Amino acid sequence: MEKSKLLYEGKGKKLYEVKDKSDLLIAEFKDDLTAFNAQKRDVESGKGALNNEISTIIFQELMKNGIQTHFVEKLNSTEMLVKKVSIIPIEVVVRNVATGSLTRRLGIPDGKVLNPVLVEFYYKEDELGDPIITDDHALLMELAETQEELEFLKTQARKINQILIPFFDKVDLRLIDFKLEFGKDSEGNIILADEVSPDSCRFWDKNSGEKLDKDRFREGIGGIKVAYEEVRNRIKNKMLGEK
Ligand code: C5P
Repeated sequence: MEKSKLLYEGKGKKLYEVKDKSDLLIAEFKDDLTAFNAQKRDVESGKGALNNEISTIIFQELMKNGIQTHFVEKLNSTEMLVKKVSIIPIEVVVRNVATGSLTRRLGIPDGKVLNPVLVEFYYKEDELGDPIITDDHALLMELAETQEELEFLKTQARKINQILIPFFDKVDLRLIDFKLEFGKDSEGNIILADEVSPDSCRFWDKNSGEKLDKDRFREGIGGIKVAYEEVRNRIKNKMLGEK
């Protein structure tokens, strides 16, 4: 796989075209940390490799359970090969427990278990600070083509949640909430894209309640790399134990 032109650089990843493979891209996970729409920035050496490793395991787990994703293979410590998709500019957030912006916006107590699980759409647009939107906004702005597509995003997000809750529970992590991005492949299938990592999910230790995700950076707690390593080690040991 030969890397060619840089196609896109986001806050957490760079996407490169692949020589002679127009349907594939190389995603390179960066060490950059950003929060609050990139108003807070830092670099954590080794973070990209950890997110690449964790995302690889999660994508493989989801695919084993029938979820289509853009993941093809892990190439090296910081890079994975993915299918080229056209990203749907909707961030799909799934919440099992209230915290973060939900608590700030609506005053729902931090830590309250949400039943039923909450699925929200945000417009993926940095300049506007990724505002929350309704289905009608998404259709009006043509972020998705039909209501059925929006329903599909919600259904997939809930299915992914139902796969990941027990997966993380087995390693004593509570999956608090997470953000997903989907894209359309060359055949028009909507598949999971982007990443699933401690940058895009919240994990609380089941016993101590300790935060093992990007909130450590957002809240200035520190120990980010150690926390990401802990998530990586727990899920890696689980996979090894199951082999
Ligand atoms: O900040 P908020 O509470 O809305 O975040 C909900 C979930 O979505 C968290 O797991 C957070 O890490 C993730 N998220 C993200 N990228 C964003 C916004 C939220 O990964 N732009």
